[in-house]
This record gives sequence, C-alpha cells and structure tokens, in this order.
Amino acid sequence: MAPPTRRAETRPGVRRAYVETYGCQMNISDGEIMQGVLAAGGFELVDRAEDADVILVNTCAIREHAERRVLGRVGQLNRHKKDRPDVVLGVTGCMAQRMGAELLERAPYVDLVLGPDAYRGLASAIRRVRPAWKDVGSAGSGRTGTGGPAPGPAGVAEGDQAGDAGDGGGDPAGGASAPRAGRMALPVLDRPATSGAGWSERMGTRFRPELAAATESAVVAGGDGAERLALLDFGPHEDYEGLEARRQGGATAWVPVQRGCNYRCTYCIVPYVRGPEKNRSADRILAEVRRLAGDGVSEVTLLGQTVNSYRNGDWDFPRLLRAVARVDGIRRVRFTSPHPSDVTEDLVDVIATEPAVCEQLHLPLQAGHDRTLKRMLRRYTVEEYLGKVALVRGAVPGVALSTDVIVAFPGESEAEYRATVDLLREVRFDDAFLYRYSPREGTPATRMDPTTFVADEVAAARLADLIDIQRSIQADIARGELGRVEEVLVERPARSDGDMLGRTRRAKVVAFPAPPERAGDYVPVRLLSTTGATFRGEEVRAGASQS
Ligand code: SF4
Repeated sequence: MAPPTRRAETRPGVRRAYVETYGCQMNISDGEIMQGVLAAGGFELVDRAEDADVILVNTCAIREHAERRVLGRVGQLNRHKKDRPDVVLGVTGCMAQRMGAELLERAPYVDLVLGPDAYRGLASAIRRVRPAWKDVGSAGSGRTGTGGPAPGPAGVAEGDQAGDAGDGGGDPAGGASAPRAGRMALPVLDRPATSGAGWSERMGTRFRPELAAATESAVVAGGDGAERLALLDFGPHEDYEGLEARRQGGATAWVPVQRGCNYRCTYCIVPYVRGPEKNRSADRILAEVRRLAGDGVSEVTLLGQTVNSYRNGDWDFPRLLRAVARVDGIRRVRFTSPHPSDVTEDLVDVIATEPAVCEQLHLPLQAGHDRTLKRMLRRYTVEEYLGKVALVRGAVPGVALSTDVIVAFPGESEAEYRATVDLLREVRFDDAFLYRYSPREGTPATRMDPTTFVADEVAAARLADLIDIQRSIQADIARGELGRVEEVLVERPARSDGDMLGRTRRAKVVAFPAPPERAGDYVPVRLLSTTGATFRGEEVRAGASQS
C-alpha cells in the first residue's frame, strides 16, 4: 500500500481548489475556464483533492453507466468531507445541467451543482455555500497548478456513443475520455454517452428538452442550515469573454470559439445541456491567440461543437481560421469538430493555402447509409459526405482524415450497417472513433419505435466487427508511412523511459528518444515502426538525409 501523503498546510486566508475534469475537449476547456475563475477569485489551485478545500468534478453529459461511475467518484471524494466537514464538493458540466437539483437530492454531500453557463459565478457560489470564507483572496494568490489538455493515446476509440462530445467525441487530437487533473493519473471513465433512466420524478427534474432552455436555479437548505446550490441558468450570451482560462502551459492550447449547438441530431444531448450556438467575437479570439503566442504557444486548436458553423458579424469560420493562422508565432492551427454540412470550398481553400493550418481534418460521418443519416437528422447524404471528402483530398494532398461512427442506431438494418462498413473501406480514414448507440433520455431517438431498437448482442457484434475493420485499415495506412520524415511538435514524456511524445502535422502520435527539455521543439523524426495507432521514430539530425 502506498504511504499516506501529507496534506499541504493551509495558510490563513487561503483556500485551495481542485478541479477534476471528464469528457470532451470542450469540457476540458471549460475546466480551464473554471480554474481561471477560481484563481481570479483568490483560490489557490492544487493538483490533489486531499489538499483542496473546494473539490469540483467537471462532468460531461454522461450515459447511465458512466453517470453512475461519476456519482461513485463524487461519493469517493466525499471522504475528504468526513475529515474536513467544511470542504465544498461540487459537480459541474453537462451531467450537472442534465440532473440539476436532483443531484443535490441523490448525493446529499454535494454542495454545489453548476451547469456549463454558470462558471462565471463559481467563486461567489462557493462563498454563498461557505459564507465564513469571505476572507478568501485576502492573503492568497491563485496559481496555475492544474488543468490543460493531457493528450491521450491515439487509435481506434470504442465504446458507447459519444455523449456530450457530440460530433468530435472522438477527439482526433488524442482521446478525451480520461479525467484531467493536472498531471495526476486518475481513473478513466468510459467515453461519455447518456441515458436518463432512474431519474427522480418527485423532484420534478426529469429531463425535458423544452425545459432545458428555460431558466432554472434552485437553492436547497442543507440539514445543518448551510446552503446547497444548483445554478443551471442558460446564459444566452454567456461566452466567458473577459475571463482568463488557466492552461497547463506548453506549446499547445485549445481556444474555444463557440459554445452550444444549433443542430439537432436525434441521438445527441448537447443542444439540451449546452444550449444553442454562441460564437465569440473574432477580435477577442484573435487577441487571445496573440496572447498565447506571446506566452510561447505555437499550436492552437480552435474548439466548437460545430466549429465551422462559426459566424460572428462579418466573420465566418474560413476568415477566422485564416486570421488565426497568420498570427505571429503560431506555427500550427487545428480545429475540431467541423460539421460536414459546413465544409465549404472557402474552408478547404484556407486549409490548402495557409501554411500554418495542419493537413488534418476530423469529419464526423456517424453512419454510411442515407436512411440512417436521415433518422439521425445529420442533414447530409452519403453522396454529399463523399463529395466533401473528395473536395478536401483534391485540395490538400495527403490530408489525414478521421471520423466518428455510431453503429446500431435505432432501426439500423444489416444492409445499413454493411453500407457503413463499405464506406469506411472506401474512404480509408486515418483514425476513427467508433461507438455503439446508447439512448439518452430527452433526445428524439429515444422516442423512436422501440421495436426497431437493435438487439444488444447485434449491436456489440457490429461494433466489434467495425473496430476490427478500422484497425486493419489504419494499420495498413500506418505501415505505408514508415520511413517518412515528419515534423513532430514535442509535447510530453512518453510512457517508455527516455522517450518523448509528440504529434505530426497530420496528428499522428510519435514517440522517439529525446530529453524532456525538448518539449515545445519542432523536430524532424523518421517513422521507424508502428502499432497501427502510434509510431516510434528517431530524430533526423541536421545534415542527415531526410529522404
Ligand atoms: S452537430 Fe449533432 S452530434 Fe454534433 S453536437 Fe450538434 S447535435 Fe450533437
């Protein structure tokens, strides 16, 4: 058993906060915003729950199984309240929005429930549930100790359908299913997806989409008279402008440009827990990117639920992408996740012509048959999707494509599933995130004819089959890349001793021998071997042949 670790001493007037984030990149980005709010509010950020006076679990919209696990994790964290009863335990994010005040009932030790639009008021909400902490900030200063995206392994993701991630659940830039909390290794939850069984009718919080857009907040008195709080208001204009996110540092950064989603894919909970699309002003996005570049960031990923539907005043997404790509000091730009319907010739032209925009595109497919796409309300046909693929491949030679697919959507016949298989074989994606449909209460798909739901064993078999097929395609593509020399942005130590991990412009993950001081460097690396999902390589020294 590991020796107990000593809890750091608390200084008078200083309260410490810990944020543990689960889910998609949008949620990770929200975790950075929360940390910024806490730091600005005088809380000191720490890397361990045991050191914290405020413990926040930042959740994605979760399917039932994963939701239970998150609740289990919150219950586990409650042990800190047993030793230190004044610890504030909070749940934030999409699960918080979806469950609302019911969370306060189901988990009586939870003090705070905050939906995704309530983070601006986080510090004041904490003071509201702990009025005695009004001195917070008088002696302390927030520091950046946690947060920031910790890239996970690349490869075929598998599991139930992506939840809050919606499109782009399959984080092509490195997986997003593990909780993020500084550099700690924490338990990995399943990829998020949601169903809503077991909700409390008594509390009147059963999820109803028509209510999700309504203003709601609740204050519940705790047994000892302390306030417990659920803040779930949707802020139609809340884009967290003016708040400084606390990032982990390093050469890469996520920049949210959009919140919410105006699409209504029938399986997806995002529009109901994150509200309609809101786009930040281009001026402010560009100012943030310039600041990041000044701080040493050279790669940015623009983030939005359907990022390429971005529009603000005269700015559309191609214009924004081009402007970001031209910021001094920015050497690489990525974006996730685009909706296929918003992939335009203008956008492809920017990818093709702006040297900083990486030759990589995540293009969520979801299904390879028109009937399934229609039931999903994806708003494109297979032919239109293939047209977008051809457009991109024609303009950007060698572009790496990744995708998301949901199998066993209600009503998916064997022929429809086979069409998806055929499409994967035809397009040959460099990477794919494959899920099995998982119903989420409140979404239209749950109201489809139950007799059309695909049997569990069939769904499991389809997913396993598709994973095999995609793995084989991916391994074949990867083997074809061996011997190439690629520019790798070095990010962090690999698991193997003495290796560093980085990404190529085409988002391939490469490990190669290098000291930790090389983090942030751009290094030419020859690809020597592959697992199919990742590569091992060696640095090509100046003067050596790169052929
Ligand atoms: S585009 Fe569809 S899948 Fe993506 S976030 Fe919006 S509703 Fe969900």
